Amino acid sequence: MIRVDVDAERCVGHGRCYSLAPEIFDADEVGHSIVLVGEVSGEREARAVDAQRNCPEGAITLS
Ligand code: SF4
Repeated sequence: MIRVDVDAERCVGHGRCYSLAPEIFDADEVGHSIVLVGEVSGEREARAVDAQRNCPEGAITLS
């Protein structure tokens, strides 16, 4: 089980995270990321890691 957080100060709304993992992330009204599922396991862990690696701003933290 890993915890998923998005740093709202860093997120600029590229949308890669919610395109890659829409079951974990969604967009707010201006396109910034919001976390739908704060703790993920199994298959979702790999999707969360994929999203983290593809965030150009380094805004996604997994712990
Ligand atoms: S990919 Fe990163 S910068 Fe883009 S919306 Fe997601 S968290 Fe924000």
